[in-house]
Amino acid sequence: MFASVGNLIDIECSALRPKKIKTVEFYGAIYLVEDGPWDIVRPSTSNNEILFSFINLIKLEDKPKSITFEQLMNTISLNDAINWIQKNGFPEIGRLYITDANDELDEITRALGTYYWLSLGQFRRQAVTLYLLFHLWQALLYEDEGKIPYYLQPLAADDVNKLSSKQQKLTAQVFISELINERLGKIDFRLNMDLSKPRIIFYTPSLFSAAYFQLACLITLKDKEKVGKHLKICPQEKGGCGNFFWGHGNSVYCPLCDRRTAYSRRQKRNKTSQEEQ
Ligand SMILES: [Zn+2]
Repeated sequence: MFASVGNLIDIECSALRPKKIKTVEFYGAIYLVEDGPWDIVRPSTSNNEILFSFINLIKLEDKPKSITFEQLMNTISLNDAINWIQKNGFPEIGRLYITDANDELDEITRALGTYYWLSLGQFRRQAVTLYLLFHLWQALLYEDEGKIPYYLQPLAADDVNKLSSKQQKLTAQVFISELINERLGKIDFRLNMDLSKPRIIFYTPSLFSAAYFQLACLITLKDKEKVGKHLKICPQEKGGCGNFFWGHGNSVYCPLCDRRTAYSRRQKRNKTSQEEQ
């Protein structure tokens, strides 16, 4: 039956991509504001790229014993966010309607002018939430009991170490489902009337929602072997970048690092370490 309906794992999204971005500070918060021409892009939704492009923004260099939400947010620099948006478009944009004069959003809009914008805080918050949910799911999938409280704590208000490991697992599942469901509720159904292959698809104008959707699809795979086969880390020891990616077959490096890039990085590193000796 599902084959004839079309499997509901396709999602389409669109985003407004500015050529230039300026930053505006308003009540102590930083806003990323389009500055000049922009175009509408349809980012690729294959291979869970949107999800990984957010998760890969967070790099923990020295593997701290515990992490906080704030600390993770601070690993995403202003430039990281600007580069991401210039490449993929605004994941979400501030609304421009002038409604109630007391409306806080309206006040921001007036202060920033009639531009498209997103707060840096919102960008960081969503990327970190996706990162934590992804790692929590991995910890649950591989029954890594130490990692569950590690990735759960930044999302929780109370000390999760006071919970039994069974309670930690249940709480992790609640966080994952509630945070993802909140996003899935905002996604629309559409009919794609392509005569060769008409099908029902999901559509969202939010790249955050598209990323949550991709995470939901990964989670429903459930099959550890399948996940293990495709979910890869671009190998730093072989000159890769350390990013997560969804790869097929024997692919070793992520799409951003082809063999040649990795090879030249490896050469460079070998040369540096020889010079040090
Ligand atoms: Zn790479």
